[in-house]
Amino acid sequence: MTIRTDGIVIREQNTGEQDRLITVLTKEKGVIRAFVNGGRNPKNKNVSSTGLLCYSDLSVEKTKKDVYFIKEATSKKIFFSLRQDIVDLSLAQYLSELASELAPREEAAGEFLPLLLNSLHLLSVKGKDINLIKAVCELRMLCLAGYMPQLVGCKKCGAFESESMYFDTRTGEMFCEKCQTAARLKQMNAGVVRAMRHICLSDPSKIFSFTLPPEALCVLSQISEAYLLNITNRNFKTLSFYKTMTEI
Ligand SMILES: [Zn+2]
Repeated sequence: MTIRTDGIVIREQNTGEQDRLITVLTKEKGVIRAFVNGGRNPKNKNVSSTGLLCYSDLSVEKTKKDVYFIKEATSKKIFFSLRQDIVDLSLAQYLSELASELAPREEAAGEFLPLLLNSLHLLSVKGKDINLIKAVCELRMLCLAGYMPQLVGCKKCGAFESESMYFDTRTGEMFCEKCQTAARLKQMNAGVVRAMRHICLSDPSKIFSFTLPPEALCVLSQISEAYLLNITNRNFKTLSFYKTMTEI
């Protein structure tokens, strides 16, 4: 069976002497792994269009044993500038790994695909603060995967806002000034609460359209990352690498 779909390559590895195995976030089939026969031969016509972070129009053969092979790939967009900046590239690889972890398999990718593409685009044109891109992508992907935090109001009394609100990065619940008790809760000012509501509840085309002062962005960034790591309950090598790069 041949499937025609758009997709972005989110991981690549060599296999055997000649071939490559790529992980692709596709529009029609979510995350798939597919072999590129002869994909290590520079003369192969599909090499450049199946490289890491390449967004391509793909023709994919699925065998009876559910193994995918790339028959043909035509590149639509190559995020070339990301390869020239190690910090941008390391974040792109982390966001790709997140998609690989959270996006559907064997069913349509839905908003995951435009979200990853928009994030990579903003990163490549340096259109937004890098930590804002990271936080938006983390939180929105969690929402898409069914882990939307409870941001409507205080978990206990329902208050919509108080001077500070307090977020539980283990459960995704929020508490007001009066009701917060646990020391581990993260304090957020009104700007951070607004930003989190904006990221989780806005139309997909608007989620990156906000700004925060550096201190508040730092809080948002810490909260989204901690919530993501708690929910996924795993370590991401690409995140560790990104942090190594940004701490230099
Ligand atoms: Zn309350």
